[in-house]
Amino acid sequence: MTHKSVSHNGVDALILDYNGVLGRQPTTAMWTRLADLAEWPGRHLPSFHDAFWAPRNAYDAGELSDLAYWAKVLGHHPGARWLRTLRAADTAMWTRTDPRVLGILSRARAAGVTMVLLSNAPAHLSKVLDATEWRRELMADALYSARLHLCKPDPAAYEHALAATGIADPARVLFVDDRDDNCRAAAGLGLRTLHYTGQPADLEQQLLPALAGRAGS
Ligand SMILES: [Mg+2]
Repeated sequence: MTHKSVSHNGVDALILDYNGVLGRQPTTAMWTRLADLAEWPGRHLPSFHDAFWAPRNAYDAGELSDLAYWAKVLGHHPGARWLRTLRAADTAMWTRTDPRVLGILSRARAAGVTMVLLSNAPAHLSKVLDATEWRRELMADALYSARLHLCKPDPAAYEHALAATGIADPARVLFVDDRDDNCRAAAGLGLRTLHYTGQPADLEQQLLPALAGRAGS
């Protein structure tokens, strides 16, 4: 038996994906509204999704401006006002958070766990997320693909995030993401991983040693 406050299998830091973990997925109503604003033929969501996602990685990586991205989605250049409308509606779809996850993270933060956000996000959304209360209160740092010019699952993205935790040993850092390919890349660098599937209890379970070991310390 040991009385060390940090248990052997404890987690000292978290690297967190945003959307699908802290952030909630857009509703169908939100997608329909965006398709409407894009004047998408027949409000046909499957084809709109295809058009939306095809250039998204390049947009997230900071390779496309807002105008260049939406020109690719629409197949033509929107005017300045239309572009602002589209960007605002797009951004708003990704800003709703899950209070259950934030609650668990607040407890972990209070127990001394360091947290770093690592999100594939375009520049404007990055600014909006950076200005939130949860970002200020919970995260030691927040790394966004548009600023890194790197998207997960590029290993270099995780290396930046690990450095930002200040923890040298990746085995004491838990990476949480709702995408399996992102988790596998993190595991390849020696990070612990949680493939998050929308169950806050899974996250809580991973953090129990940290929460128990450091409560009141
Ligand atoms: Mg995600």
